[in-house]
Amino acid sequence: MGTNGRTDHTERPDDRGYGPGWDELRAKTLRRDGYACRRCGADDRTLQAHHVVPRSAGGPDELENLVTVCRPCHGVIHQSNRAFDDVRDDAPLFPDRTAPAPVARMRTPDDQCCSRCGGERADPTELVAWTDPTDAASGSETDHETLCKPCAGLVLEAEPACTRDGLTGNHEFSTHELTRRRTDASVRPSLFASPAVAIRREPRGARERLVDDTPLRFLVNHRGVRWATLAVVCYVLLMVVLVP
Ligand SMILES: [Zn+2]
Ligand SMILES: [Zn+2]
Repeated sequence: MGTNGRTDHTERPDDRGYGPGWDELRAKTLRRDGYACRRCGADDRTLQAHHVVPRSAGGPDELENLVTVCRPCHGVIHQSNRAFDDVRDDAPLFPDRTAPAPVARMRTPDDQCCSRCGGERADPTELVAWTDPTDAASGSETDHETLCKPCAGLVLEAEPACTRDGLTGNHEFSTHELTRRRTDASVRPSLFASPAVAIRREPRGARERLVDDTPLRFLVNHRGVRWATLAVVCYVLLMVVLVP
């Protein structure tokens, strides 16, 4: 058990307002959670009690509102808190499959977005990570790409360097599942797609050929652009009617 049950006064996010019952409550939280992090399962790191509903938002100091996390995972939950900057990268990329929803998130907000289509997936079971060995060898900053499952199926099929062995996730997934879902991947990668995975899918059907595979997709698939276009059209029509 080692240092797990210790009371670590220096690790509190904020000493102000933590009443005399806090140490006891924190100890109860750790005991209930088996002295292990609920995000990653680690039991050999400094453990802290995290408020699911923050105190600043009226979250009570009650056992039901507390969950045990290790310090690196606590940093994942509090992305903007600089006090965790030194340890955040030590947290595993994926949360454990048994992690409760409030702490089941990827290591960085970027990792929740698919590197190919840019789509955000809050549910980590919808994501897989691809570690490109050529990338890792070159010592590049990104040692992995996170991909939504449809895009992963496409990359797996189209990119020879990508094999099932290079893909990881926190839930069971098979080559079959990814291959089956690849047709749901967008035809074109997003403008900001990572070069390693910026692969085009062969379009099928008239709509995909005419819209999804041409710049028309910016007009049709983006709500903001659609509304802006509508506004311009209305403005022009109004001008034509009102100005003699
Ligand atoms: Zn952890
Ligand atoms: Zn994607």
